[in-house]
Amino acid sequence: MLTLDFHPAGRHFLQIPGPSPVPDRILRAMSYPTIDHRGPEFGALGLKVLEGIKKIFKTEQPVIIYPASGTGAWEAALSNVLSPGDHVLMYETGHFATLWKKMAEALGLKPEFLGLPGIEGWRRGVQADQIEARLKADPDHQIKAVCVVHNETSTGVTSDIAAVRRAIDAAGHPALLLVDTISGLAAADYRHDEWGVDVTVSGSQKGLMLPPGISFNAVSKKAIAASKNAKLPRAFWDWTDIIEMNKTGYWPYTPNTNLLYGLHEALEMILGEGLDNVFARHQRLAAAARAAVRAWGLEIQCADPNVYSPILTGVVMPEGVDADQVRRIIYDNFDMSLGTGLGKLKGRMFRIGHLGEANDLTLMATLSGCEMGLKLAGVQLAGSGVNAAMEQLMSGKDQARRQAA
Ligand SMILES: *Cc1c(COP(=O)(O)O)cnc(C)c1O
Repeated sequence: MLTLDFHPAGRHFLQIPGPSPVPDRILRAMSYPTIDHRGPEFGALGLKVLEGIKKIFKTEQPVIIYPASGTGAWEAALSNVLSPGDHVLMYETGHFATLWKKMAEALGLKPEFLGLPGIEGWRRGVQADQIEARLKADPDHQIKAVCVVHNETSTGVTSDIAAVRRAIDAAGHPALLLVDTISGLAAADYRHDEWGVDVTVSGSQKGLMLPPGISFNAVSKKAIAASKNAKLPRAFWDWTDIIEMNKTGYWPYTPNTNLLYGLHEALEMILGEGLDNVFARHQRLAAAARAAVRAWGLEIQCADPNVYSPILTGVVMPEGVDADQVRRIIYDNFDMSLGTGLGKLKGRMFRIGHLGEANDLTLMATLSGCEMGLKLAGVQLAGSGVNAAMEQLMSGKDQARRQAA
């Protein structure tokens, strides 16, 4: 509902796990006039962002940038390396894994969905041992790819991708490894080359702090080799011409010029802060958010502390409370958007995004809005999550001071 007479004071709190708030620096960079995408300045910009984005994926191989949402980059990943009827192993971590699997079916692939029974899969990460066992039971190598979601945005679970790599290696299986880190990139540790990922899929509007509209495929040499024989129909998504033209900083079609200005600025910001510092900041904020949820006496959707997401926290509502009603109360009273429960979790939980340019005080404001909204909705809270989060954030500062001394 965006009408001309809707002018709330201050900024809207966009605390969904993507799109994340776009920093002013990036908005300003994007306001430069659009230039000729075949002209000399553009080539320099293209080369710079194509080189810079490799540092974020931690890869030496090409990264393809599409003018598309993350869903487009999902399709690009599948259609460049697979053929009709190919058997692919996917893992049910939540709503996004489910959507990717539906896409695989629509494209004429044969996905097999591994997972834990019932809703358990939506509370824990990818179980690498299940993948290993399944691959060991495939001596003829019918399975062509393993597809997993790194940060499952519908639940707040960040799976261990290195463990999935080890599982594939332990089975001695040649399947390609395809990973969706649309919401994980530039917020949680990610290593495309070191983890032996063949195609990494990502998007602009989450950890990268850009508006929606561009997305990525990071590739491996093995993926490029597979693309030479892959038979799924593809045209717009085909890597070949893009990689060739990208060598000079250009694209075969009109790229999203202004979003590339934004990407250039985002790279400056993220690499300027330092990737490790960015990851540590996300971890600190996530720990404070969880401290708040525990103090409220509510449950965290992720049930395995080893795979808590640094990007978002899923907050499970007590029996009988409609999470979307709570979200509505918070939106109406405090001008803040929280993530809705998706798929199997509709109405059961809401999601607090703490990604991108989030800091201590934006998190505290967010948690205040949640606490007030929960009370207004009549949810019985065990205590103050806001106080617990403040204590958590301050203890982190104390430690930092002691270490510096
Ligand atoms: C956001 C998201 C997507 C979908 O990306 P769109 O840009 O909405 O197409 C897919 N997977 C994950 C894990 C996401 O967080």
